[in-house]
Amino acid sequence: MIDQRHPEIRSAVRALCADYPDEYFRRVDAERGYPEAFVGALMHAGWLAALIPEEYGGAGLGLSEASVILEEVNRCGGNAGAVHGQMYNMGTLLRHGSVEQKRTYLPAIAAGKLRIQSMAVTEPTAGTDTTKIRTTAVRRGDRYVVHGQKVFISRVLHSDLMILLARTTPVERVEKRSAGLSIFIVDLHEAIGHGMTVRPIANLVNHETNELFFDGLEIPVTNLIGEEGKGFRYILDGLNAERTLIAAECIGDGCWFIERAVKYANERVVFDRPIGKNQGVQFPIADAYIEIEAANLMRYRACDRFDASEPCGAEANMAKHLAAKASWEAANVCLQTHGGFGFASEYDVERKFRETRLYQVAPISTNMIYAYVAEHVLGLPRSF
Ligand SMILES: Cc1cc2nc3c(=O)[nH]c(=O)nc-3n(C[C@H](O)[C@H](O)[C@H](O)COP(=O)(O)OP(=O)(O)OC[C@H]3O[C@@H](n4cnc5c(N)ncnc54)[C@H](O)[C@@H]3O)c2cc1C
Repeated sequence: MIDQRHPEIRSAVRALCADYPDEYFRRVDAERGYPEAFVGALMHAGWLAALIPEEYGGAGLGLSEASVILEEVNRCGGNAGAVHGQMYNMGTLLRHGSVEQKRTYLPAIAAGKLRIQSMAVTEPTAGTDTTKIRTTAVRRGDRYVVHGQKVFISRVLHSDLMILLARTTPVERVEKRSAGLSIFIVDLHEAIGHGMTVRPIANLVNHETNELFFDGLEIPVTNLIGEEGKGFRYILDGLNAERTLIAAECIGDGCWFIERAVKYANERVVFDRPIGKNQGVQFPIADAYIEIEAANLMRYRACDRFDASEPCGAEANMAKHLAAKASWEAANVCLQTHGGFGFASEYDVERKFRETRLYQVAPISTNMIYAYVAEHVLGLPRSF
């Protein structure tokens, strides 16, 4: 690729991933399991603490380096979806948590002893319209009491902590719908079975995601992050990093698909010649590769602006959109190149095909990115 930064990080992550080959991820997928050994190794090696400042025991790296770590996981055939929350969820705590909260949690997160894999925002009725969430947290003395429901909340069963968004002031009593929402740290070991129930959702990808039900869950007031009522803003603050990291994962997927498609097109002989000799086979692969390269440039543009503390909402959104679209195109081309074998699990194409499809829906769907660009970049009227 044209721009392949941080070669030392790349080769170190690749070396770790080499211990978890295709067969490993294929088996985990078939069992609908969780890649526990791989996640443990990645955490133990400190890769998921890339963005945690050194004063808290992290590596203190930038988003560019962090994005390369997740890119390499996907490029090696794995799925960073099992771990990426650990990298960006702590950002909410880092930016808006109290000194005491940071001292309590960040060193343990950096050491890989504590997992903060989950963030609970989406609700079944509100969908993308987050300010309409119905989960409430009502203060009673030194506790908040939570009632409500969330949907598609990932990695809850493989995490220690979860960041929860809930309404603390009824919508009728706030000037703007986005006010009156707050975020909390939920200790999952204390919560599950004590006011919080988890129901896994079987889904297209082997992505541990769940429905959550809150019926009187009590959270100590000390677990409120930042100021009460400002949670929506705090969540928005974390989105640029999340979107850029997901863009990098899609770039990793895209590279994997291109490499596999090229290899197969060179090896597979039909009508006495490699199928890759046919323009009808090679041109779509070339086209998909060009799209991945273009998305990669936007991903680094977003990283550079983020790391320079410059506004990067447009770049992060566009990077995520371009990369998710490009990886999906590459997935489709890779599958087509493999013909019938693309459907056979042992080639891993169908698994990666399913995995990369997620990123045009989560963490934000394509239309919402168009809406962002239309309104905030182009100055068109808000459409919703
Ligand atoms: C596997 C998986 C894991 C997830 N993990 C998490 C998680 O850990 N935490 C979490 O909080 N959420 C998570 N999500 C939820 C995810 O962020 C949402 O599914 C996503 O943001 C879309 O919301 P929705 O499903 O409610 O779709 P809806 O809001 O119901 O939208 C449905 C479709 O309509 C379109 N649409 C809606 N309104 C408009 C409009 N005004 N203009 C144009 N188009 C519109 C959308 O773009 C979308 O395509 C996960 C989802 C999945 C599938």
